[in-house]
Amino acid sequence: HPRVRFAPSPTGYLHVGGARTALFNWLYARHTNGTFILRIEDTDASRNTPQALSVIFENLRWLGLDWDEGPLPDGRTIGPFGPYFQSQRNDIYEAYCKKLIDKDMAYIKEGAVLFRMPRKRIIVPDIICGDIYFDCTLEKDFVIRRKDGSFVFHLVNVVDDCEMKISHVIRGEDHLSNTPKHIAIFESLGIKPPLYAHIPLILNPEGSKMSKRDKGSSVQEYIDEGYLPKAFRNYLCLLGWSIKENREIFDIEEAIAKFDLTQIHRSNARFNRQKLLWLNGEYMRTMPLDELFPHALSWLKKAGLIDDHYDNIPFLKGAVAIVREKVKTGKELIDWIKPLLSNQIEYNDAVLQQYLDNEGKNILKEAFPYLEKVSPFHSKELEETIKSLAMKHGRKTADYIHRLRVALTGRTVGPSLYPMLEVLGKEKVLNRLHKVLF
Ligand code: GLU
Repeated sequence: HPRVRFAPSPTGYLHVGGARTALFNWLYARHTNGTFILRIEDTDASRNTPQALSVIFENLRWLGLDWDEGPLPDGRTIGPFGPYFQSQRNDIYEAYCKKLIDKDMAYIKEGAVLFRMPRKRIIVPDIICGDIYFDCTLEKDFVIRRKDGSFVFHLVNVVDDCEMKISHVIRGEDHLSNTPKHIAIFESLGIKPPLYAHIPLILNPEGSKMSKRDKGSSVQEYIDEGYLPKAFRNYLCLLGWSIKENREIFDIEEAIAKFDLTQIHRSNARFNRQKLLWLNGEYMRTMPLDELFPHALSWLKKAGLIDDHYDNIPFLKGAVAIVREKVKTGKELIDWIKPLLSNQIEYNDAVLQQYLDNEGKNILKEAFPYLEKVSPFHSKELEETIKSLAMKHGRKTADYIHRLRVALTGRTVGPSLYPMLEVLGKEKVLNRLHKVLF
């Protein structure tokens, strides 16, 4: 069974590219019944932070990418090849370094240890890109252990892939140029290198290479905007892979069933924020309400609109059900639910002037007694009432609809009016109207 790993360095936030690498490793492991390992490459003490580590844990969990071996957020470890923090594996690196020196594959120069790079042509057999030839005849020997005793990425990465019995290295194409060095180290240790799959880069919408500093490159930004993990994960799949039928929306079970490293595209993937937004909107609209609702609850709590004691769940569910038809992110959802939830409606003068001047108020005063009588206070009955009212007074239904919306929410746009009236309920509707009109 394949053994694959995601090996982030906890130096900042989790990057979109890193998340996709983790996802592709995870998909491959789940597709093949293999093992997905999380290894923390934290040898650079000056650049690692505990916050960055917890962001990695949290974001992977958010994406639903569970690992079979590696450190757990609570401090425990699962798996037989630990520790899974490189910072705790010095003895192992030391032993390998010594082995290389003993075999004369490495040597000491001024206190540092250098690897004797074989001067030859090295082939990287890559599952995605095919065989890639590297002319290493002019390659220099390189440091594997610094003078201060710390170990260099190339050595620790290879040693851990040996020790953790990694069968497939699936990583970003930015590492491709390191791979001949890694293969050379494997060979000098007499160990067969793993299979490689280098995933093409992710480009910004404008076509430049997406870097850690770019806006929109951190997974946390999408969590904060209220993206749904399923939608975001679906979108990440599309960055370099697609299921054969060219369908863009698919669930994770289908992705697992169909995932295939040989089908990863060779060309770079462009990050398309519009498409991600569209995809998220599709998930918001179509996922079962009971599945969306817990997300909505947590967004609303985070925004401070409800607290842990909030208990009018049927009302809130109704609000989410009508609002989700029109919004694309959790942030938008919160913004649209806000005026339904709170009785403190914010009115803007210009809007009041336009919709609720004296004439506007009179039109709603005309409607008030009819609304009082609607029973049951349901969308269908409300629609019929407004229609017959309009007929009777020679008006358009829009004359009531827009004014009612403004009077009840302070907004000119929002969910469809009749379902919104039903969700608010007769009491709230009449109370709010009364405050504005009389
Ligand atoms: N720590 C390396 C990185 O974050 C991992 C490289 C690899 O996957 O081999 O890029």
